[in-house]
Amino acid sequence: MKNILVTGGFGFIGSHLVEALLGIPDNQVHVVDDMSTSPINVQSYLRQLQGVERLTYSLSTVHDYFRRTKIPVFDEVYHLASVLGPVRLLNHSGEILRSIVEDTYDILDYCVSHKARLVDFSTGEVYGGGNKGVCREDGAMIVPPKNSARLEYAVGKLGCEIATRNVATIGKIHATIVRPFNVTGPRQAPAGGFVLPRFISQALAGTPLTVYGNGSQVRAFTHVQDIARGVILMMERGTSGAAYNIGNPANKTTVLELAQLVVKTTASASEISFVDPTTLWGALFEECPDRYPDVNRAITELDWQPCRGLDEIVHDSARYMRDGRCD
Ligand code: UDP
Repeated sequence: MKNILVTGGFGFIGSHLVEALLGIPDNQVHVVDDMSTSPINVQSYLRQLQGVERLTYSLSTVHDYFRRTKIPVFDEVYHLASVLGPVRLLNHSGEILRSIVEDTYDILDYCVSHKARLVDFSTGEVYGGGNKGVCREDGAMIVPPKNSARLEYAVGKLGCEIATRNVATIGKIHATIVRPFNVTGPRQAPAGGFVLPRFISQALAGTPLTVYGNGSQVRAFTHVQDIARGVILMMERGTSGAAYNIGNPANKTTVLELAQLVVKTTASASEISFVDPTTLWGALFEECPDRYPDVNRAITELDWQPCRGLDEIVHDSARYMRDGRCD
């Protein structure tokens, strides 16, 4: 029996990861989630969850959880809990860095003192725009001379990555870092500002799809279930101290093409409108340049492959949102 802690386990990615972990019969999972941005209704999620008898949870912040007197012994920790989302981040400007750093140190201290293995969730944002959009783990990470909520998030995640990798490199724990790229799929809510659920909710409401700028910016979208599989393999097979891109470069698209695909998939009568995002979200909103991952390290070292294409992602997400599901 393996005892596993998932922080942020009732979030969008976390809830899919928990399902995948409980799909392995030997796993016992504990979720810590403060529900601040959870897209699920916990009771209906638990009702449909296979292996729910092996799940326990604490509705708590990471900070409060680790100040309890008795914390169980976990063999593995997946640390996902974090403020995120290009629009949601704006409300936390100035506090983003503090929360990322404080939570990560609670996790690191626990893992060191209990010899727990760690997968720490970072972000593809650490690359800035990569090299003309292509982001490789051995490429440069550049801090641009500007200021934004997005940069505070990226720098906080990068700092915590480096501390975690150093702790792993000096042999105190086994830790790997995941850098996810544009994860999307069922249960992702439009509230954080993420493009696919925003476009789908606009298409279903028959209102214009808000394409930022001229829509030529490139992203590669990854199905959340591909991510869940990848990070479980990373816990099992990843090299301690290494960072892995997890994403799907085969799903590269411009944002305008994505908008057109959403309109077609949902058979919507919505028009596409081109807007300046700072008129919607203010001056601290920042667009990221083209960005997509090279995932050869994960493919080679973890024997992982993303397998869900863009059509399937849009279809799954649209079906979920059309059904008005909240589990
Ligand atoms: N985007 C857009 N309209 C929206 C929301 C987002 O055109 O209503 C664009 C955004 O500018 C970016 C892409 O969609 O180029 C992906 O945005 P998201 O916020 O999902 O993630 P990002 O990659 O920017 O972190």
